[in-house]
This record gives sequence, C-alpha cells and structure tokens, in this order.
Amino acid sequence: MMKVENLSFSYGKIQAIRGVSFELKEGEIMAIVGANGAGKSSLMKCIAGLLKPGEGTVCYDGKKLELTPHRVVEQGICLVPEGRWIFPNLSVEENLLLGGYTNKNRARDVERYYEMFPRLKERKRQRAGTMSGGEQQMLAIARGLMSNPKVLLLDEPSLGLAPLIVNDIMSIIRSINKEGISVLLVEQNARKALAI
Ligand code: ATP
Repeated sequence: MMKVENLSFSYGKIQAIRGVSFELKEGEIMAIVGANGAGKSSLMKCIAGLLKPGEGTVCYDGKKLELTPHRVVEQGICLVPEGRWIFPNLSVEENLLLGGYTNKNRARDVERYYEMFPRLKERKRQRAGTMSGGEQQMLAIARGLMSNPKVLLLDEPSLGLAPLIVNDIMSIIRSINKEGISVLLVEQNARKALAI
C-alpha cells in the first residue's frame, strides 16, 4: 500500500536517516522502534511532506507520492505528530473540525469519533490545552482521523503517559486498525510496540 524506498534526510551536516526502505501493507500495523535520536520522527516528517528528503521516494497505491503536506493528507495519509500539537486555546470540538477541514462529512464524523472517544464528547466545549496528557493524545488521534485517512502515522503516542493510559491508547490503535486503517507506529516503548 505504501512503499518507502531508499529515503535519506540530513539537517545540514547531520544525517538523520540513511537509505530507509520498507513496505506497509493494507490493513497492517507496522512499528518502527528505536532509541532517542535514531531518526524516527525525521522519517515520519519526510513521509508527511514536512521535511524534503535528499534522496528516495514514497509510493502509495502504486504511484509516486508528491511529498507536500496538503497532497499527502489529500491522498489519505495523516500524521499524528510527536508532542500532539493540538491547538491548546481552541475547544476539543474546534480541534476536531479543523482536523476535518477537507472532509465534506466532518459534522457527521465528529459524532462518529465522539462514540469512539466518549471522554472527548464529555469535554467537547473544554479548552483542549486544559485536558490531561492522555486526553490530549486521544484528541490528537481523533483529529487525525477526522481527515479520513487510509494510513495513520503515529509518532510516539505513548510519550509521557502513565502505563494505564498507554494501555488505553494501544487499544484505541487496535480498534482504529480494525476499522480498516493501516497504521505506521513509531515508538520508544518497544514492549508495547511489539505487543501490538
Ligand atoms: P526521539 O525518539 O527522541 O524523538 P527520533 O528517533 O525521533 O528521536 P529525530 O528527532 O528524527 O529522532 O532526530 C534524528 C537526529 O536528527 C538526531 O540526532 C537529532 O538531534 C537530529 N535533529 C532532529 N531535528 C533536528 C533539527 N531541527 N536540526 C538539527 N538536527 C536535528
């Protein structure tokens, strides 16, 4: 479904990724594990079009993907970035609606994701920045889903969360995958990543 071939990227003289190749099959959850600074986030940003790779290509559904952020989202690939990057001064619902900016059915889909994330429904008028870390991570994932992706790129969704909350997030990832969305997961928590 998504084929990454020989991807390389450097920040000036610092080579962050070199010759990375892999294939994500339809319906699959694939995990990329690695220590701090191994280049995982840089790889995700290259696929999402936020960094321009020096070399290599990403093919999606057999075609070369134009690596600009809006095209990548239009094609059905969405990044949930490390650190969540929710809009802290907007409400939960406003965050979700922005995630579905290009989604014609966004009003309907907000309700759909409220069913999947009841905690977000309870807090729909709350300022997003006042929620707990786990709730903010749920919001970041739900906001990503609002773009109707076929592939979700999840960058360290367990970062900074308590173990019980990490379990919740992992079961959410499983249920997203059961709905037919392929997942590329970046994790430092190798145990959890391998379990999934
Ligand atoms: P972490 O698990 O800590 O998020 P990571 O595996 O995602 O790490 P990256 O964030 O991709 O790793 O970083 C890869 C390398 O590139 C590191 O050596 C890092 O210091 C360097 N790097 C990352 N961002 C920049 C930047 N904006 N400018 C210069 N170097 C950077």
